Amino acid sequence: MTAVHIIGAGLAGLSAALTLQAAGLSPRLYEAAPGPGGRCGGWSPSPGGTIRDRGTHLILAGNDTLCSLIRRHTPTEGWITLPPLFRFHDLTTGDRWTLHPGRGRWPGWLFSAGRRVPGVSAIRHLLALLALENRRVATVGEAVDPASLIGRRLIAPLAVALLNTPAEAASLPLLRRTLHQSLYRGGDALSPLLCQTSLDHDLIRPLALAVTAAGGEIRLRTAITGLTASAAGVTLHTPAGPVDCGTDPVILATDATQAHRLLPQHLPALPHSPILNLHYPLDDGCRRATPDLTGLCGGRAEWMLRRPGHLAVTISAVSDSLRTSPDLAPQVWQEARQIYPDLPAACPLQARTLTERRATLLQTPQTDALRPPVHPRTGGWPPTLWLAGDWVQTGLPCTLEGAARSGVMAADAIRQRISR
Ligand SMILES: Cc1cc2nc3c(=O)[nH]c(=O)nc-3n(C[C@H](O)[C@H](O)[C@H](O)COP(=O)(O)OP(=O)(O)OC[C@H]3O[C@@H](n4cnc5c(N)ncnc54)[C@H](O)[C@@H]3O)c2cc1C
Repeated sequence: MTAVHIIGAGLAGLSAALTLQAAGLSPRLYEAAPGPGGRCGGWSPSPGGTIRDRGTHLILAGNDTLCSLIRRHTPTEGWITLPPLFRFHDLTTGDRWTLHPGRGRWPGWLFSAGRRVPGVSAIRHLLALLALENRRVATVGEAVDPASLIGRRLIAPLAVALLNTPAEAASLPLLRRTLHQSLYRGGDALSPLLCQTSLDHDLIRPLALAVTAAGGEIRLRTAITGLTASAAGVTLHTPAGPVDCGTDPVILATDATQAHRLLPQHLPALPHSPILNLHYPLDDGCRRATPDLTGLCGGRAEWMLRRPGHLAVTISAVSDSLRTSPDLAPQVWQEARQIYPDLPAACPLQARTLTERRATLLQTPQTDALRPPVHPRTGGWPPTLWLAGDWVQTGLPCTLEGAARSGVMAADAIRQRISR
């Protein structure tokens, strides 16, 4: 059986491994960290406590590649499917509304005032969606004015939540593809999927188990410190010595920064954008049985996820001044109290702030143009080396879906090459 070496056991690496196994190939993963999962990793506020996601991840049922992995390899009881409607709160005016798209493709829901953005007519909604289809402009901000009412209440929050990039600079084609995968397919594709415990517990561990159960190998705490690649094959360098892969295929499935460090002559350094998450423990007095997801505008945060015992707040594309503000946790807590008046006045002392400085690429048109394909055709590219990771050119933004898709694309390309 042909061995395929995969550097990195994040979602892209695991997705590649499972696709290769389905084609009868044998993956061997090398992971620098003590566990798989990369940016899907968890944290615990106390030793032995509940593991939570470092950053809340929004998954939609229309994320086809990811959802197919979830269906095939993870226990059903690990997932909660929420109805396809989105609550929003404007913190400057106090207005609340629920965006409630229909089940089909026909946007009839826009003609019902209670299901669209308040203060914005159905025609204005349609014009904004049409403007996002404009192929002659490159950024979201050029298509729809972020300061207009629909810009402020819908388009800019969507851009920053989906692309982790301010609307003014965010790539319009990337937003458009995400909308075509979700909003334009109708209700069911828009249903948010939440894991019961954490991505580590409900997604990554089952996927890693599926890889090893099918005979794959995951070598943890094995950092690849160097990579020599030529037409004759690839050699991986580890602190324990070199691994000669010969002409076996190799997939580089690290994050973009590590990939550039390993192959600076072939891969560009790409700009990144941070995400900050605030985690507030909630005591028994404010427990709620069902999770609640609320989008925000006019405040510091983009969205909040309230679950039993825990409130997680996400600030995408966080600015340096906000990230370093000493009063951020109490200020955001007061914003949360506008949405959930049952929360106590005092910010919990155990509130924690976690920032991922390189959460995703900064998803501008300029960065998108630099993302390499899974098998670059530039001169001198090693013939047995493929790429995977959310930063690779999949046509999708840097998301779980993009990472999962990149793994499938790399594995499919290898399968085709071998069968030729
Ligand atoms: C705070 C936060 C919030 C997010 N929110 C969302 C969201 O709401 N929705 C969504 O879809 N996406 C979200 N994302 C993005 C999503 O997490 C990523 O797109 C996805 O996890 C990327 O997976 P990956 O496998 O491409 O990369 P990674 O997860 O970075 O995996 C790369 C792996 O390679 C390993 N590695 C690196 N260097 C080496 C080396 N030299 N040798 C061996 N191993 C190495 C790393 O340890 C890691 O395990 C969020 C990310 C963050 C950080």
